[in-house]
Amino acid sequence: MRIALALCALALAAPPALAQAPLSGPDGTSLNKVLVIGTDGTRWDLLEKAMKAGRAPNLARLRREGFGHPTLLEFGPNTFTLSEVGWSSIASGVWEDKHGVDGSKFNMDPGQATKNGYLDFLTRIENRRARLSTFLASDWDNLGLAENGGPIFGSAMDANFAARVPVETIDAWNRGDVEVTAASTRYLRRGNPDAGFVYLGLVDETAHLAGSATPTYANAIATTDARIGKLLRAIRSRASYPFESWTILVVTDHGQKPLSEPSIISHFGQTELELTSFVIGSGPGLGRNVKKPKVVDILPTVLHQLGLATPRGWNIDGHSFSRARPASSASARVRGGRLVAKLSLGSRPKVRRIDFHLPARARGAATVRVNGASVEAVTEGKTVHVALRGRLHTVSLAVGTGKTGGSLVVTMRNGKLAIPVS
Ligand SMILES: [Zn+2]
Repeated sequence: MRIALALCALALAAPPALAQAPLSGPDGTSLNKVLVIGTDGTRWDLLEKAMKAGRAPNLARLRREGFGHPTLLEFGPNTFTLSEVGWSSIASGVWEDKHGVDGSKFNMDPGQATKNGYLDFLTRIENRRARLSTFLASDWDNLGLAENGGPIFGSAMDANFAARVPVETIDAWNRGDVEVTAASTRYLRRGNPDAGFVYLGLVDETAHLAGSATPTYANAIATTDARIGKLLRAIRSRASYPFESWTILVVTDHGQKPLSEPSIISHFGQTELELTSFVIGSGPGLGRNVKKPKVVDILPTVLHQLGLATPRGWNIDGHSFSRARPASSASARVRGGRLVAKLSLGSRPKVRRIDFHLPARARGAATVRVNGASVEAVTEGKTVHVALRGRLHTVSLAVGTGKTGGSLVVTMRNGKLAIPVS
């Protein structure tokens, strides 16, 4: 909800749209990856209706493969259902009694940037494991920019794409989301981030500018689902996707009043529709076991899926949805003149063969074990071919070699992974 921005837009000339550099960040270091998608002000009742009617097929699929439930925001009695409160809670894993952003400053609270020391999950990741590659893509200034009391997501992330929406119109917000989706899609397909947050604002703005009890709002939900579909297809088209384990979480910051006309305060109060959020997700360890998700569970879940614990001392209100161990890993090390590579594939793909392209210094025949058992491997020059049956969970390879350095490249039908040799 953008009350303050909406009021400002009435008073000020619209700033020009700023050209944004494309998203780009350092190469990630994890095969376990997390994408959190935020769709602002999205009513669960109407989203569920859209999923059932086939108008939100991407979220319906995500829910089918994992879980999807409504969840009430646990706000204090004097807290407003505004975006600065919802996103601060989602980012930090604590409710507003701890992070202190209660909506009384109408999305201009300077506490968004500090949250009483309850840092956002991208900053927590960077503080715990800086070599993980993180990104943010958003068109609401408060999330990633030092504007209106933000940024809610600090400045520690490796890449930050902030589309600016110059005027409060549905068309302008639609274009903002197009930009965010295009930048994120390109980066997810061609780059190698480990964790990111992508924010889409159209649904909430449509509630403000048209009302949530209108076909325009229902269309905004369908449009946003299609954009989420683009993000998910970009992930599935990654060259290294068969080797990776992705966790996807989709969340909203608040609901809406069921209005059929424009309103700056289409959400504000504590009716059940306004307090109803949701979490939809899929990934390792995420399925029917997730019954009562809360939005403050996002932070510990994101960290858990990356193999990071949430220390008790952080005093986080949420808990990880998943108890599964990180599902995917790959290593290639030289020990005692032998190169030993180990892969664990969380997605357990069904492939007929896997090929290892050895570094130049490798010599002699390789020995390979698949799912714990020795298998026949054909070494041809610097390539090792292995025929497979059934699902592939673990593979190890050992071969004579000289010094460390270079990469071991592993290929399967649809995938390619380069593992640095250390
Ligand atoms: Zn709003």
